[in-house]
Amino acid sequence: MISSKELFYAHLAQTSPAPMALEVEKAKGVYIYGTKGEKYIDLISGISVSNLGHAHPNVVAAVKQQADDYLHLMVYGEYIQGPQVQLATKISSLLPPTLNNVYFVNSGSEANEGAMKLAKRFTGRGELIHANKSYHGSTQGVLSIIGSDEFKQPFEPLLPGIKTIEFNEMDNLSAITTQTAAVIVEPIQGEAGVVIPTQEYLKALRAKCTAVGALLIFDEVQTGFGRTGSFWAWEQFGVQPDILTIAKGMGGGMPIGAFISSKEIMNTLTHHPVLGHITTFGGHPVCCAASLATIDTIVKEDLISAVPEKEALLKRLLVHPAIVEVRGKGLLFAVEFENSAFNFEVINECIKREVITDWFLFNDKSLRIAPPLIITLEELEQACMKIIAAIDAVLTSKNSSIVQ
Ligand code: PMP
Repeated sequence: MISSKELFYAHLAQTSPAPMALEVEKAKGVYIYGTKGEKYIDLISGISVSNLGHAHPNVVAAVKQQADDYLHLMVYGEYIQGPQVQLATKISSLLPPTLNNVYFVNSGSEANEGAMKLAKRFTGRGELIHANKSYHGSTQGVLSIIGSDEFKQPFEPLLPGIKTIEFNEMDNLSAITTQTAAVIVEPIQGEAGVVIPTQEYLKALRAKCTAVGALLIFDEVQTGFGRTGSFWAWEQFGVQPDILTIAKGMGGGMPIGAFISSKEIMNTLTHHPVLGHITTFGGHPVCCAASLATIDTIVKEDLISAVPEKEALLKRLLVHPAIVEVRGKGLLFAVEFENSAFNFEVINECIKREVITDWFLFNDKSLRIAPPLIITLEELEQACMKIIAAIDAVLTSKNSSIVQ
């Protein structure tokens, strides 16, 4: 009989020559169970998605209830649907009054596409500025504003009018002018390998945008929903954007995203042209119900207040002569090694020990740690011990191959 693995390679589009190819039976909490009885601890949360862990009972119940009530009814924005209204109201309550208008989409890429269009439409300007090593998604619009030529060049021509600045470099802010529609940054860069800017930088960026009438877009697709130790990462810097984009952790495992701004800015999508941005499935009622349950659970169970202790534990335990640097905020961590080959070997050794980690798109010598927020201190400690053991195993195999 043809195995699932063979069918996977034959019929599923592949995005790399060497996928993890982990065959999953089920997933619950912080664990993913393999088909051969393996019990992996998930230290990456499907890339910062499963902040509540896998299949959280509150999310599953909300999904089932909404599936019983109704599924898709109409393209976004026409009918008054309870789950959308309640979710938009809830998200607005967690944001300042200037971010109280929510446009639901299906993914992080779409959220950023919408934000880019909105900024162009509101300002009447064409130029967009982004940071080197930023990641904002994979569709052609957002591909134009990611900070990697390697990823962009094979798909050129992309959007015109794009300028790149170095993240966290004050000098580069002079590139922002009255021609600029918007500057888009991640308040903490994810795929660059967790790069945390100074507060002064984000404040100066905010001030420059305000001075020239450019909008500031924060992409919190990866950093939102408690990931960095506050509900939104920008709260820790005291700097508010004009447009906020979110996705990933928003749906508790269901696909949903949004771009958010003031009503004044968002209203420009209602005319010239009418239906300035449209989506069939954006704000799917089942995904909205899942998202509402996710937010309620994060807030009611006060999951974020336990994050700093977990951050401190990670910093304490991730110490090893082979580790060049550890960068982290909340439960978003990068463990940097000398080179990518070493990192990949550690990742493989971790898998052998049933610990799932990963690398970063634009920093392949760093190992990603972004577990569900519900991970316990004990689970985190055990996982760290296994990572250290994996590093030792790589070093031992290298030494023995030198001796031979
Ligand atoms: N922005 C950021 C900061 C991201 O990390 C990602 C996904 N890694 C995206 C946007 C794109 O999200 P999606 O894959 O849902 O389109």
